[in-house]
Amino acid sequence: MSFVQPPPRLVNQYDDDRVLRAYLHRTLPSDFFTQIDPSLHNMGALAGGALYRQQLDERELEPTLVQWDAWGNRVDRIEVTPLWRTAERLAAERGLIAIAYSRDAGPLARVQQFALAYLFTPSTDLYSCPLAMTDGAARALLASGNQALIDRAVPHLTTRNFERFWTSGQWMTESTGGSDVGLSRTVARQENGVWRLHGRKWFTSAIASRMALTLARPEGNPPGGKGLALFYVETRDENGMPNGIRVDRLKDKLGTRKVPTAELTLEGAAAQLVAEPHDGVKHIAPMLNVTRTWNSVSAVALMRRGLALARDYARRRVAFGALLAEKPLHLDTLAGLQAEFEAAFHLAFFVAELLGRSDAGEAAEQQAALLRILTPVAKLTTARQSVAVLSEVIEAFGGAGYVEDTGLPMLLRDAQVLPIWEGTTNVLALDTLRAIETAGGMAVVEREAHFILQGVRQPDLLRISARVERTLERVRLWLEAGKDIEAGARRAALTIGRAFALALLARQAQWSAEAERDERPLAAARRFAAAGIALLGEYDADDARRLARDE
Ligand SMILES: Cc1cc2nc3c(=O)[nH]c(=O)nc-3n(C[C@H](O)[C@H](O)[C@H](O)COP(=O)(O)OP(=O)(O)OC[C@H]3O[C@@H](n4cnc5c(N)ncnc54)[C@H](O)[C@@H]3O)c2cc1C
Repeated sequence: MSFVQPPPRLVNQYDDDRVLRAYLHRTLPSDFFTQIDPSLHNMGALAGGALYRQQLDERELEPTLVQWDAWGNRVDRIEVTPLWRTAERLAAERGLIAIAYSRDAGPLARVQQFALAYLFTPSTDLYSCPLAMTDGAARALLASGNQALIDRAVPHLTTRNFERFWTSGQWMTESTGGSDVGLSRTVARQENGVWRLHGRKWFTSAIASRMALTLARPEGNPPGGKGLALFYVETRDENGMPNGIRVDRLKDKLGTRKVPTAELTLEGAAAQLVAEPHDGVKHIAPMLNVTRTWNSVSAVALMRRGLALARDYARRRVAFGALLAEKPLHLDTLAGLQAEFEAAFHLAFFVAELLGRSDAGEAAEQQAALLRILTPVAKLTTARQSVAVLSEVIEAFGGAGYVEDTGLPMLLRDAQVLPIWEGTTNVLALDTLRAIETAGGMAVVEREAHFILQGVRQPDLLRISARVERTLERVRLWLEAGKDIEAGARRAALTIGRAFALALLARQAQWSAEAERDERPLAAARRFAAAGIALLGEYDADDARRLARDE
């Protein structure tokens, strides 16, 4: 008989996740934990069971674009995969958006919402993409104060009733630029009292959505970002026909292949102004804060899935006379990945906590400033970590990790989008520096890290605390010195992200050691510290020019 390798298996993804559970135990009041525990348990069962099986079964299915109906009408309908249809219903009924707007949980609503999303995301083929934009659109509309649009759309975006549930797109990127949206060429014209949009949107995910928020330049406005306005568009008219929107094609992408991402031509799409007829980038900002937090949570969710599979596999695969789980070097490799994941987890969920306080109107000035700074920091840090971790996860399976029908390659391909959409690493690093300048400086970050580390007593954690504080101080001094700031922005932002993540991990480690007699978070903190948090170093701008431009 030839040898057949047992595949990796998943169990209930909530029950099995000590990092999530310990975090929730520490942060939530016990009655609230007891109240939400069954819904998390249930989502964990689906994520490790029926949804995961469906995901593997549908591995080869992809969304399709139907441009014409049988009678020659241009319909531009997107057929999504069955798993996406399941995910849409589940998302509505389990309140993946609604929870954040119900106010039942007050400032902790975001923790509850993102704990569910974290379990849901890796088994639903990135359905978190339209959910992120739906959540962001609800937030941006509420922040706009446009009551007519709030009344029209927000109840649909935030309902638990699947029949009434809408998702939203976010159409910003044009072929001229996704980072520099000020170059956008889409024009808005008033025709018979109705705003109509004309132009081309180059990357539009969630194109099957009922509505979108988009940027366009009202005719006569100046060039650049200030001249753009934020518009609300419903994708279909009352007869279900396209609202002056042509879907030119779906993108053929490296990953996120279940997410329909289209190129659109707007041919007089009827639209409504969300706020003033200018400053659209400012008005869409509340949306981006939400979608970037979804991105951070998706990054940790994908890392967690990869690790759950790799750790299970290490207990099933034999090499050189022992299970991989007994080989010191394989264990060491997995331990490094687990530490990266745990640090990323606490960073992402800390930002979710801040967002929850901000939504509930309970964010003090310091917390609002922190949210502004840490949202891009968490997004860029966790996204880069997820690509690195999932690349190693693939290798942890050897050749099997590279083979499509194991379902493993998809994890790495999907993770690779996380540092690109919602702002690339470089663009968010520059945004971080802007945020630091306008939101009170590095002192805001240093004060909060100091506060987080106050309760730390274990000797290793005390050493780690001192290191975090020194590292953040070094970033402040580097910023004050003002040399080659733009070129070093990415290293600075990643240093802040890693140092802050280590502070959060240290706090969790102290708590777990005392409250749960669990030393694993302490091990994660030591390991993450050993891997290094400081990226600022001796980098020379002239060397960069020599190398990048071959000068
Ligand atoms: C799968 C997928 C789905 C997407 N879905 C959507 C969507 O639904 N809606 C939407 O609006 N967009 C969407 N996007 C677009 C995405 O947001 C953009 O691709 C992204 O913001 C980058 O813009 P760009 O492609 O124009 O790259 P560019 O802006 O041309 O960037 C190219 C490179 O230059 C770097 N760079 C740019 N400016 C600077 C600078 N000042 N300093 C240093 N480096 C810089 C970037 O980091 C990047 O590495 C999607 C993209 C993908 C891949």
